[in-house]
Amino acid sequence: MINIQKNISLAPLTTFKIGGPAKYFVEAGSEDEILEALDFAKENNLEIFVLGGGSNILVSDEEFSGLVIRLSQKQKPEAKLLASPKLSFGFFLECWAGSSLSNVVNFCVKNSLSGMEWASGIPGTVGGAIRGNAGIPLGCMADNIESVKVLEIENKKYKTLKNSECGFSYRNSIFKENNDLIIVSAVLKLEKGDQEEISKKIKELIENRLKVVHPNPKEPSSGSFFKNPKVDNPELITNFEKDTGQKAIDGKIPAGWLIDEVGLRGKKIGGAQVSEKHANFVVNVGNAKAQDIVMLSSVIKMKVRDELGVQLSEEIQYVGF
Ligand SMILES: Cc1cc2nc3c(=O)[nH]c(=O)nc-3n(C[C@H](O)[C@H](O)[C@H](O)COP(=O)(O)OP(=O)(O)OC[C@H]3O[C@@H](n4cnc5c(N)ncnc54)[C@H](O)[C@@H]3O)c2cc1C
Repeated sequence: MINIQKNISLAPLTTFKIGGPAKYFVEAGSEDEILEALDFAKENNLEIFVLGGGSNILVSDEEFSGLVIRLSQKQKPEAKLLASPKLSFGFFLECWAGSSLSNVVNFCVKNSLSGMEWASGIPGTVGGAIRGNAGIPLGCMADNIESVKVLEIENKKYKTLKNSECGFSYRNSIFKENNDLIIVSAVLKLEKGDQEEISKKIKELIENRLKVVHPNPKEPSSGSFFKNPKVDNPELITNFEKDTGQKAIDGKIPAGWLIDEVGLRGKKIGGAQVSEKHANFVVNVGNAKAQDIVMLSSVIKMKVRDELGVQLSEEIQYVGF
């Protein structure tokens, strides 16, 4: 039985710690609970937003007047098989979409399963990671997905999609383009590995993240704010490669480098700031409003477009704007 709550603040449920309340809110720990929540939304003619770990969104300061369905990350006994990753046939791992990526990575270490190391230290849930095809240069969700089980909101039917049917590309998938689909679970493909080697790789990746990527934990963010754009200006690519000693793979230049080039590292509007540590992180340095973040992102986009001729597009999702 689900517990529909009213007027729940969304800010604490996001990594940005920003956003107004949801008129209706429910935590769903199983497929049945998602269906119950959908019935409630239909009866009351409410817009739906599915929330995972809240680590890739900016929620508006205004009230979200619909129903937020948060997929539970708790390991509830009655939903155990789904709430926690379950080792099934061979090296395939079935995961509830609400499982946190860190739970999945920990499960892999415990069972000497290799393949998901790239996800170490990335916040959020399996569902959110599939929708945005989360990843790092070393790997991404698309590399590990065997199949994804979805619930179609409109007709309440389940469907299982093979990897090739998910339309995965850089930080993209069909789930981003089709808001009628709720990801309920997924089967990941993994290989048997050496536990010590897996742990070592994870430790290195997390250390590197903390050193060069993640901002100070006291400065909440939603991770990389913009996608790394494909650039067709050879001069800009040469400048980037000379400056960093890195290659522009597939013509893509890190958004953070472009933001740095136009001198916006550290730029502040209200409580929003371009991180001093990684210029593609916009951080909440003190009670930022969503409006502060939106204004700062507009300045960034305008300056990068006007000075470098590159159009940035957001990696984060706006909710309730
Ligand atoms: C410090 C930090 C570091 C980060 N580093 C990385 C990184 O290295 N690589 C990277 O790719 N990302 C990174 N991110 C971004 C973020 O962690 C990922 O995008 C993550 O996969 C988002 O998952 P989530 O569960 O938090 O999604 P949410 O933020 O809750 O939701 C994001 C979108 O997915 C939708 N969604 C969520 N669950 C479902 C579901 N079950 N069915 C349908 N739609 C759903 C939501 O409706 C929303 O539109 C980072 C974020 C932070 C804060």
